[in-house]
Amino acid sequence: MRTRRAALAAIASAASLALTLTACGQSSEGGSEEKTESAKGGTIGIAMPTKSSERWIADGNNVVKNLESKGYKTKLVFGEDDPENQVSQIENLITQNVKALIVAAIDNKSLNGVLQQAKDAGIPVIAYDRLILGTPNVDYYASFDNSKVGELQANYIVEKLGLKEGKGPFNIELFAGSNDDNNTKYFFNGAMSVLQPYINDKKLVVKSGQTKLTQVTTLRWDGATAQRRMDDILTRTYTSGRVDAVLSPYDGISIGILSALKSDGYGTKAKPLPVLTGQDAELASVKSIIAGGQTQTVYKDTRELAKVASNMVDAALNGKKPEINDDKTYDNGAKVIPAYLLEPVSVDKTNYEKVLVDGGYYTAADLK
Ligand code: BGC
Repeated sequence: MRTRRAALAAIASAASLALTLTACGQSSEGGSEEKTESAKGGTIGIAMPTKSSERWIADGNNVVKNLESKGYKTKLVFGEDDPENQVSQIENLITQNVKALIVAAIDNKSLNGVLQQAKDAGIPVIAYDRLILGTPNVDYYASFDNSKVGELQANYIVEKLGLKEGKGPFNIELFAGSNDDNNTKYFFNGAMSVLQPYINDKKLVVKSGQTKLTQVTTLRWDGATAQRRMDDILTRTYTSGRVDAVLSPYDGISIGILSALKSDGYGTKAKPLPVLTGQDAELASVKSIIAGGQTQTVYKDTRELAKVASNMVDAALNGKKPEINDDKTYDNGAKVIPAYLLEPVSVDKTNYEKVLVDGGYYTAADLK
């Protein structure tokens, strides 16, 4: 897994270089015409966290497409989950005189210095999907309702186990995302707001005893790390009894958990797989859902998020107020960042066709 990640990272950084060149208009790959500085004026820097997960590649591409349709040029970079790398990428973008920045942070607290440089250069900054903390130099935040993501995952577990009908007790294990991602606590707290009453009533039992956020995070959302933790929990805690549900915050983590479960003999009639949530509707996970592995995912339409962020940039550069639908929730420690939050959607075997295929996110052939 490690080696595969390293290989993926190497491929990804080569690909990201190619993408940067293409997006800069320095390469005519894909037949796109080289764009001169347009009437709108200028190039927008886009810093995405990693190419190791499909969603960020789609986010990057969608933001580029949107901004280009508004007459901007773009420079798209991927930080490969290395916070320092992301800082120097953003420094580079500032040196290259970008007019605005769209940033999906790797480490929410590592960007204060570089965003001061952006501020000093008069560059507006949009926090993309993940809030950047501890700096006033963030102008707007474009994301999804992150608490709702966790609520959807937890409600799915409640429904599938029949907890509202009084069934139980059931065993559940909890996983959360990276501790340096501001979204992590929103996902987890959203989920726990639904699950905690059942835990209090002993209808849900966390047999490992690992219930605090600090005990269940997964650094950099790494699937292999989650797999090791699940392996460990199964070996130590489930010498008797079995896991009925696993709260997983992200598809890459769910796939890791699924591997651990399968290695432990889950997936038979006598030992069925637990209800297993996820997020992002990544291809591997949607296929797994169709095949009866992972149970659920939370779909977030990155096309819509890209549109929102691009509109924010366009408004900010033209002295207009972008559309905002939340001015309370996202206090980054320095100020409350005006936000536009989109709605996430729960997807499982029963509605993936309607939501993902009819919605044009995947073709039926993609899911074969
Ligand atoms: C995003 C999720 C994603 C996770 C891992 C979070 O910040 O909101 O959509 O699953 O990062 O990439």
